[in-house]
Amino acid sequence: MADGLPSEPFAEIDRLVCGGGFIPDEIASRARALQAAAGRHAPDAPLSSTIVDALLAHRQGHVALFTGFVVPDTFPSGENDGPLGTVALARALLRAGVDVSIHADPQILDSTSWLAAEIGESIPITPIAPNTCADRIDVAIAIEKPGENAEGYLHAWSGRRIEAGSVSIDRLFQELQASGKLTVAIGDRGNEIGFGAIRDELLSLVPEARRCTCGCGGGIAADTPTDLLYPAAVSNWGAYGLCAGLALATGDRDLLLQPEEEERLLNVAAIRGCRDGLLMTAAFGVDGISGPISIRIVGALSAVVDAALGAG
Ligand SMILES: [Zn+2]
Repeated sequence: MADGLPSEPFAEIDRLVCGGGFIPDEIASRARALQAAAGRHAPDAPLSSTIVDALLAHRQGHVALFTGFVVPDTFPSGENDGPLGTVALARALLRAGVDVSIHADPQILDSTSWLAAEIGESIPITPIAPNTCADRIDVAIAIEKPGENAEGYLHAWSGRRIEAGSVSIDRLFQELQASGKLTVAIGDRGNEIGFGAIRDELLSLVPEARRCTCGCGGGIAADTPTDLLYPAAVSNWGAYGLCAGLALATGDRDLLLQPEEEERLLNVAAIRGCRDGLLMTAAFGVDGISGPISIRIVGALSAVVDAALGAG
């Protein structure tokens, strides 16, 4: 581990982003198993420390964050899982001195801008286009971004094909990987880009990933891998966990998202029409989990960092 940091706080971050002790064991355990699969190449290091080390090793480069899960009739203004984590992680990287940009589906440009403003940052936010250029990007991070299945189609968790919604970033990520750039993904269910890295384990742990209702026969499992994948119970939590890991690694607790900020972000997202991914309505919660639980996760991550940095 870089700088001789103890691994236990990072291991605790990995546990917290899976919701252990906060949400039903079945969901938390599944996320833990997906993490174990994603971290199998460095099983002795907590996954969050592996990813934070990789991000900080590239801190001189440009980091592009991608978000947006838009389905025209059910999520016309996107999900609230993804954009919140994206603005928090972008702020953490910015505060760590990294050059960052956010790339969001066109339908969520405004809401993402409001979310960034809510936590006090002015970050360049541009719409994802099919021809988004890879040249300026050194590191790409996808947060809850649908990925194409083996048949080349994006799918919602419900099994439906996404048409005229989120723009695919699969070609861009494949191009980045081919040119040796670092690609990272955060996801929770397996239909997000990055899960191609653990396809066999995903299909075993999440049998629902095998099915789709559009007739393509490919299921909803995303096929494109990323160099690093951070599974979490909720993708936003995965991003908040990496903020905590960056705070640990840099010794700067200003990189953390604070519980009161999570409360405000959830409210702003609901007001701007971002919907809960399971309830399919604007709600004070995320992926069917109540807002207060998400706020407690953020508080627990903050406490891990405080204890480790001796500020608790
Ligand atoms: Zn299909």
